Amino acid sequence: MKMKEEKDCKIVQDLLPNYIDNLTNEETNAYIEKHLEECEKCKTIYENMKKKIEIETEKPDKREINFFKKYRNKLRILRIILLIIFMIFVLDSCRKIIIISELSNKAEQYVDSTNFHKVTVSGGYTNDFGGFTKMEVYRLGDRRKIILTNFMPINEMNQVATMFGKDRKIGYQNIEEYTTNMYVIKDGKKTEAVLNQQMALEAKPENILKTESWWQQILGSIFASVRETSYNGEKCYYIANFGLLQDTNSYGMYISKDTGLVVGFGQSAPIGEIESSIQTYKYEFDTVTEEDFIEPDPSEYENVYDASKD
Ligand SMILES: [Zn+2]
Repeated sequence: MKMKEEKDCKIVQDLLPNYIDNLTNEETNAYIEKHLEECEKCKTIYENMKKKIEIETEKPDKREINFFKKYRNKLRILRIILLIIFMIFVLDSCRKIIIISELSNKAEQYVDSTNFHKVTVSGGYTNDFGGFTKMEVYRLGDRRKIILTNFMPINEMNQVATMFGKDRKIGYQNIEEYTTNMYVIKDGKKTEAVLNQQMALEAKPENILKTESWWQQILGSIFASVRETSYNGEKCYYIANFGLLQDTNSYGMYISKDTGLVVGFGQSAPIGEIESSIQTYKYEFDTVTEEDFIEPDPSEYENVYDASKD
């Protein structure tokens, strides 16, 4: 009896895979089912085998599901990355718009100043050929004084021309003209005095960040690069490519954090270095006095020419 049972078990166990796959005939099925009812051991084997086969046949589906899950996760990660990039862009744009509009508002307070001293230096001592030009502008009310110094190392020539402008009038193409006396000193010699000449004398602190409309300022700010730095010991922002759409100011400029006025100008000035081609500006406000407008005596000059006597 026990032998027969064991033999039956072997047969049933051999048939089980086919039985689960429905490959056995009805007679065999009846035989297997009857045995499974009576034999606990084969029933356990059958149930385990059935589970295993079910899992195996399910696997491809699960794999597919996993693939789609992974794919969906990747898409989600990509979306998050894009969102982060977009947020960084938006935040950076906001930062630049705020910085530039604040600087422009600060500069606006100085544009109409009637008492200031502005020094502009172009070129540099390091340049063997170019020399440098220094222009000092004094404004006191409606009067102007401009001192123009040119130094050429190549012939060691030094020339200082001082112009005193008074009697302002609006000339051709709305340009401010002044009746001007000019005194020239060449290499320390008082060579020339030209009196009563009509001249256009530039003298205005400029708000270089001001644009024609608010949207130009916003677009200009978005496309600009803005970084904190210092220039000539002054805390600044270095702003490049501002006004890309205006075709002006596309070179780098150093803007004072304090005043919003330009303190340096130049094409692609490297960090911490002053290029010889760069322009430097310095402003002082409310320091100009009557003493700055005391004119020299024309008779001390070698040549005196009066333009009003033509
Ligand atoms: Zn059995």
